[in-house]
Amino acid sequence: MSEADREIQAAARAFVDELIPHEVEAELHDGELPAELLEHQRRRVHELGFDAVNMPKELGGGGFSAFQQVLVQEQVGRATNALGWVIHTPASWLPQVATDEQLERWVVPTIRGERRECYAITEDGAGSDVDAIEATALRDGDGYLLNGVKWHVTSFNHADHVFFQAKLAVGPDAGAHAMFVVDLDTPGIRVVRTPAYSHTIPYHHPVVAFEDVRVPAGQLVGEEGDGMRFAYEWFRYERLMIAARALGAAERLIEEATAFARQRRAYGRPILDYQAIQFMLADSLTELWAARLMTYRTAHGIDDGLDVKVQHAHCSMAKLYASEMAGRVADRAVQVFGGRGYMRENVAERFYRELRVDRIWEGTSEIQRTIVADQLAKRGVGRLIG
Ligand SMILES: Cc1cc2nc3c(=O)[nH]c(=O)nc-3n(C[C@H](O)[C@H](O)[C@H](O)COP(=O)(O)OP(=O)(O)OC[C@H]3O[C@@H](n4cnc5c(N)ncnc54)[C@H](O)[C@@H]3O)c2cc1C
Repeated sequence: MSEADREIQAAARAFVDELIPHEVEAELHDGELPAELLEHQRRRVHELGFDAVNMPKELGGGGFSAFQQVLVQEQVGRATNALGWVIHTPASWLPQVATDEQLERWVVPTIRGERRECYAITEDGAGSDVDAIEATALRDGDGYLLNGVKWHVTSFNHADHVFFQAKLAVGPDAGAHAMFVVDLDTPGIRVVRTPAYSHTIPYHHPVVAFEDVRVPAGQLVGEEGDGMRFAYEWFRYERLMIAARALGAAERLIEEATAFARQRRAYGRPILDYQAIQFMLADSLTELWAARLMTYRTAHGIDDGLDVKVQHAHCSMAKLYASEMAGRVADRAVQVFGGRGYMRENVAERFYRELRVDRIWEGTSEIQRTIVADQLAKRGVGRLIG
């Protein structure tokens, strides 16, 4: 870690320490905090230079290295209820393919914090198998007509534009994927329903219908047929950041469970004296360290310009291992806290629910394993792990 890395890590840690005292209030109020508090937190993010840390400096972003982003997201992961999402990371794959108009209308204002995006890829019949999407983009004069029903559109209630993935309905590339950027006030977009989820966060995941939504051709991102390429780039980035957040969550849980075990007494002694409790904490710390080394190494590989296919496998391994590790740690932490670990005011209870999705979104654990196995078959052990 360089001196600059350490400063970033310390600033992120101190900021997340400011967020943590608001967790229980958020948990008991559907994830919501008072508007003035949110405004204060946004100002702090700006003061600390944590606006759009994943975006290029020349566009106003932080221009952080992959490793520095991991350090920030690791700290973000220490808070429950998605309070850390106030450190917003826009679509980092977009600037390299965006037109001048797209840069001006969507990318730069999003970096400045004036706009916010959401993603509409998954459908009722297409999750892991993204190629099974049925949403269509039909060329119509100088634009496109978009149709489809999308599931789990995270942050729709906080966003003002959406990346909508569809298959081209006609033409030489019919059946290929295309990605569009669409303002949410465009006629034809409606929320079908807003289901409740396991976690308690202010960012909803509604089912959203797109019905004859007309957009100009200038809202196609990249070329026709590029849609899947962007999805892969985003998955790679997000998988690494999920791994980073899982590290932070596990660290917090181990610290809190250890502190509790030290002061909680049973049969006349602190429960930390009992080997059954010690072993749960020891296994947790050991697995956290392994996951941390893997995640940091993956980030350094990206910064060093490692072969992108190997990066892809490393991001999958980091996400797979770190998310499953954090799930085990949360389960043990609930056990260490005993009955208190089942109360919503307890950090272990919240993480026990919140971390579960990390084994599902941005590619399930099973999909990560298929990616790793595929790369292993193609490249062999040596190319993947040295
Ligand atoms: C809280 C939340 C937020 C989300 N946010 C978004 C969002 O903002 N935008 C968006 O587009 N999507 C979003 N998603 C969708 C998410 O990416 C998908 O849920 C995920 O990719 C899995 O797809 P699925 O739910 O359809 O499960 P399925 O693909 O139906 O999988 C069901 C089960 O089958 C297994 N399986 C599938 N294929 C294979 C295989 N080849 N081999 C072995 N096992 C397999 C899976 O691992 C899983 O266990 C979100 C999901 C959640 C829960």
